[in-house]
Amino acid sequence: MTTMLCHRCKERAAIRMRQHRLSLCKDHYLEWFVEQTERAIKKYHMFTHDDKILVAVSGGKDSLALWDVLWKLEYQVDGLYINLGIDSEEDYSDESERYSREFAEERGLQLHIINVESAYGRTVPQIARKSRRGKTKPCSACGMVKRHEMNRIARELGYSVLATAHNLDDEVAILFGNIMTWQTDLLKRQSPVLEAADGFLRKVKPFCRFYERETAAYTLLSNIPYIEEECPFAEGSKQLYYKEMINKMEEDQPGIKLAFYVGFLNTKESGGFGDLNGAERNNELKPCPKCGQPTTNTGECAFCKMVNNVE
Ligand code: SF4
Ligand code: ZN
Repeated sequence: MTTMLCHRCKERAAIRMRQHRLSLCKDHYLEWFVEQTERAIKKYHMFTHDDKILVAVSGGKDSLALWDVLWKLEYQVDGLYINLGIDSEEDYSDESERYSREFAEERGLQLHIINVESAYGRTVPQIARKSRRGKTKPCSACGMVKRHEMNRIARELGYSVLATAHNLDDEVAILFGNIMTWQTDLLKRQSPVLEAADGFLRKVKPFCRFYERETAAYTLLSNIPYIEEECPFAEGSKQLYYKEMINKMEEDQPGIKLAFYVGFLNTKESGGFGDLNGAERNNELKPCPKCGQPTTNTGECAFCKMVNNVE
């Protein structure tokens, strides 16, 4: 076997990306990764150096990598960690909070922490168990709590943009799921940038073109400690199932994942999906009488209803 050489300096390569026909040494990989992030930010007009950005961190490899890169690019960026109260043998939530705190402390960055149990009297699995949203798994309730809390905190603290670390594998699995079930409203909204609308902040996904393997390599090569354990409820999820399937296709056809996603975005942009084009939010929103967050409900928003149900 021949030694792979870095495309930029001809030293021994640390990573080979078949889908880009590119091999890079450690230093050039880290440099490339930051450049590619900035390119995506500019390409999709995500934000500028004047924006105040809040990045949602989970203590995992993707979100800490995102925070690290945005910080290196000198954006005004703080973190938000939501402790969901998920227990496991390794104390999933408390451990991931610890990784997030340590990351912020080491760099002197500001991390906001919300503890769902302290704020609402119950953990996410408890809220889910009591509502019709989570008899078997708390994921649907969990997603709602995260979306609600991210938007609430970002608005209350005056941020202009909310950034999440969804990578290409996540986006492709979501896209695949939305197509399998023809969720046209979700397909319409799936985009690297979702513009702000009455009470909703602009949402961006700067890592949407990176393979999961690439974000993992960035975190490892940068020596960023992160929680390796997955949430115990992720096991057996549809998303993981789609990811495995798509990875099998990628093995035979390197690049197919990126082509599938970019093809979707391009077709949408050129108007090829008719009514599905654009990335609009539902525009019949009213503020929830209880929490003030935007909702399509006539009374309280779905989050307040769920949390009240429990009380
Ligand atoms: Fe929440 Fe865990 Fe489900 Fe993810 S897998 S949505 S963190 S409960
Ligand atoms: Zn509400």
